[in-house]
Amino acid sequence: MDIKIQQIEQSKIDSVDFDNLNFGRTFSDHMFVCDYVDGQWVNPEIKPYGPLLFEPSARVFHYGQAVFEGMKAYKDDNDDIFLFRPDENFNRINLSAERLAMPSVPENVFFEGLKKLLNIDKDWIKKGLGNSLYIRPFIIATEGAIAASPAEAYKFIIICSPAQSYYAGEVRVIFSQKYSRSADGGVGYAKAAGNYAAQFYPTSLAHKEGYQQIIWTDANTHEYLEEAGTMNIFFRVGDKLITTPTNDRILDGVTRKSIIQLAKDNNIEVEVRKVSVSEIKEAARLGELKEIFGSGTAAVINPIKGFKHKDTTFELPNIENSYASLFKEKLLNIQYNKSEDQYNWRVKI
Ligand SMILES: *Cc1c(COP(=O)(O)O)cnc(C)c1O
Repeated sequence: MDIKIQQIEQSKIDSVDFDNLNFGRTFSDHMFVCDYVDGQWVNPEIKPYGPLLFEPSARVFHYGQAVFEGMKAYKDDNDDIFLFRPDENFNRINLSAERLAMPSVPENVFFEGLKKLLNIDKDWIKKGLGNSLYIRPFIIATEGAIAASPAEAYKFIIICSPAQSYYAGEVRVIFSQKYSRSADGGVGYAKAAGNYAAQFYPTSLAHKEGYQQIIWTDANTHEYLEEAGTMNIFFRVGDKLITTPTNDRILDGVTRKSIIQLAKDNNIEVEVRKVSVSEIKEAARLGELKEIFGSGTAAVINPIKGFKHKDTTFELPNIENSYASLFKEKLLNIQYNKSEDQYNWRVKI
């Protein structure tokens, strides 16, 4: 693939305070852009990160044909650069695209574009555990036409944002009783832009009550716990790890499936099955609920301190040797090339 490259004249890297990054607000010097026109992906290009020009009638603005991915590049002490299970993100963006009647991105466009971009912007990937370059590939419908039907023209774009280890503070959650994130037959399994917009309002109501996030329950009964806004969710009851199976309402997270594998290989009993609100409340009451944590690329693992359901609130105990810290350490060690990787999850660029 012939990628046209237009390098920035003056890097802005010296103006960035890498010790005080706000997640997702600073972007590296370049971006990758490729157009889909007349049934073909054409004009792959790396150019300075900056505004793009669209028709106001571009379909993405009206019908939300937009899907994205979230991945990270890591640097080890020898300045080698790694991705973590990138094939999973490649497959998933195309699964998401298919659900929104968008064209799939070919493997060479995705990977050659990504690798070239990372090579050009490699100074933006900082060494040190927790530092990374967050990568945001996305596809949007750019055709200017406001009939409610799939567009004929799209852009596939990759932008990158330097990130530090992410600590969200103490997180307490509400188990949703009214609002839903996704429904049977819907788009919950896709990383579709609209899934996130739909969560902002209920989440803002939770914020007003002093809770940082919502754990979404099944839309039909609100009796089963499914996932957090951008994270899958795990419960530790006694020494058993429990998480819900993925289905068409739930995002099949790369971090989630990695944790399940690590648990199995570390002799931790894992149950992948429906998790009811009532059993978690009961386990909490009996003192058997030891941990709840979310999993996702951005935060890796995010421990949850407490939850609310109806009029019940519950605080989780502080525990030593938590599963959350065990899995986080194991994942970071693989991602940063600090441990052996028996799974071949780490991919050197
Ligand atoms: C991205 C995402 C996750 C986590 O997926 P990872 O591949 O682990 O980053 C979980 N749930 C939702 C809704 C997401 O959008």
